[in-house]
Amino acid sequence: MAVLEIRLFGDPVLTQKSDPVTRFDAELARFGDDLLETLRSAYGVGLAAPQVGVLKRMFAYDIPPNEETGEHPFGVLVNPVITRWEGEQDGEEGCLSFPGIYYACKRAMEVTVDAVDVRGQPLQVEGDGLLARCMQHEIDHLDGVLFIERLSRGDRKRALKQWREREFDLEFEGIAPHLHRSDLTIKPDKTL
Ligand code: ZN
Repeated sequence: MAVLEIRLFGDPVLTQKSDPVTRFDAELARFGDDLLETLRSAYGVGLAAPQVGVLKRMFAYDIPPNEETGEHPFGVLVNPVITRWEGEQDGEEGCLSFPGIYYACKRAMEVTVDAVDVRGQPLQVEGDGLLARCMQHEIDHLDGVLFIERLSRGDRKRALKQWREREFDLEFEGIAPHLHRSDLTIKPDKTL
């Protein structure tokens, strides 16, 4: 398994539409494992293939275990499609491609996702709360849609300004032309 490089906002791959997966082989299974390992090493909740520069319709998710029920949803979904939406939630959301930036974002409270696994076997995931938020966020990535596009106009402007200032600060200090994850605080259960 390998930890892959996560692409940051500004990388053109993040605004492209991903292609459906048609080949289910050992290479795809390995890529699924890498995606999950990369997600865990970044302390995120979800990570879509285009975030590591691969334009395939698939994502990894890993929701923190529920202390009461012991439930711990995680896995890799390939060719996911939302087939049911219900209710609404409004809460803070962030993205591994926008490290350190969090804004309130409205999403459906519950969704059902039809997908296949890395071997091409059909599966269905029903989720509410954070899992539902995560699946909606990741499927947006597969269509080249970033969470800032789901924010109110004012918040989107503030998020972009915050991003530019941060990038500028780091360049100015000569740290790097790009942000480093270690320079920023990641909120473990809000970064998708
Ligand atoms: Zn994201």
